[in-house]
Amino acid sequence: MRKLLSLIFILPGVVAGATTMEWHAMETGLPPNSISGTAVEINFENRAGRDVQLYWVKYNGTLQPYGGLKAGESRAQKTYSNASWLVSDMGGRPLGYFRVPSGGGLAMIPPRTGEPLLRSMKYSPRTGEQALAWQKQLKSSLLRLLKLDALVGASPGIALQARTLSTREEGSYFFHEIEFNSTAKVRIRAVLTVPKVIKPPCPAVVVIAGHSGTRHSCYEDNGFATVLAEKGYVTVSTKISQHSLREEGRTMMGERLWDLMRCVDLLVSCKEVDPARIGCAGNSLGGEMAMWLGAMDKRIAATLSAGFLTRMDQLEQNHCRCWKFPGLRKVVDFPEIYSLNAPRPLMCQNGLKERPTWFTVPLARAALKEIKLIYNDLGVPQNLEFVAHKGGHVIEIEALLRFFAARLRA
Ligand SMILES: [Zn+2]
Repeated sequence: MRKLLSLIFILPGVVAGATTMEWHAMETGLPPNSISGTAVEINFENRAGRDVQLYWVKYNGTLQPYGGLKAGESRAQKTYSNASWLVSDMGGRPLGYFRVPSGGGLAMIPPRTGEPLLRSMKYSPRTGEQALAWQKQLKSSLLRLLKLDALVGASPGIALQARTLSTREEGSYFFHEIEFNSTAKVRIRAVLTVPKVIKPPCPAVVVIAGHSGTRHSCYEDNGFATVLAEKGYVTVSTKISQHSLREEGRTMMGERLWDLMRCVDLLVSCKEVDPARIGCAGNSLGGEMAMWLGAMDKRIAATLSAGFLTRMDQLEQNHCRCWKFPGLRKVVDFPEIYSLNAPRPLMCQNGLKERPTWFTVPLARAALKEIKLIYNDLGVPQNLEFVAHKGGHVIEIEALLRFFAARLRA
């Protein structure tokens, strides 16, 4: 034992007891973009049985070469937590990647083993009771991967301590700028619109903007949020387009989703809102986050996800990989996440003029087939709607209004 310990101590650059970082084999696809973090050191150790090349994955998802590492060799590397490091063979073919944890650790490049299991929780037809059990199990797996389990499970929850920063009149509704607690340490801002004339209780919609969007984007140019506000819905919107992490020990997707769950908390706390009639809607990244919010928060009674329904293989290339986080592909593809909405109503919209490498209608229809399974098993096939509209990467407002009018009894 003494001999073994002394061996561990003399390994160059390796701290005894350092975390062994999880290896994500290439079958799980390309790494997610790096996001900002704190300075740490990692130690690559090449046990692949062949020479490899190392790449730092930049914040935009592209690769920066960091030289080679010969078979059997080790190397200390200064980096940051939340960085992704891709490993390829000498021909540039990806072998897998590491995601740097907050304390750094040992990045051991393993010999090739069998194919890792992908999409282990893929849904297949079963009884309604088994379907609900599958949802429960998947939801808790995803909460862990999103690193949201502690926040979601916390009791008592964090007080909102909402404060109105400003209010102005906009036709038939009030437009409030609000600030409230997301976590114990972070306050976020949101827009909250409330009809001037309330016929209580009121339906409400969490409206979600896409890449580079702000809390105002869905209201601009008579956007769908403005239309909903004018039609008498309470609406709320916060910014979820950040490509960074606010707090250590969380995930970017988890922080985005948590802020949206806090918007639901805000709606539930509003005396004007009927907590049984809260929906969510968004396009593109907003459609993705509507998928996540509807999937993970049962208080959402109806979900509208536009410009996003597809499969993960399609988003590996030609797209920002902020949708991705370690472990996700091992468990699910997008149809499973959407399937967590069932039996609650879900409408997906995809445009016939989507660009060919994006969220095309044929890809959406293939994914839709897989979501239909659980709606059938739960006896509510009518609660899943699909709209192939004539536009491009946009939300079709007419179908959105029809959906919420029917599903939130507006
Ligand atoms: Zn992105």
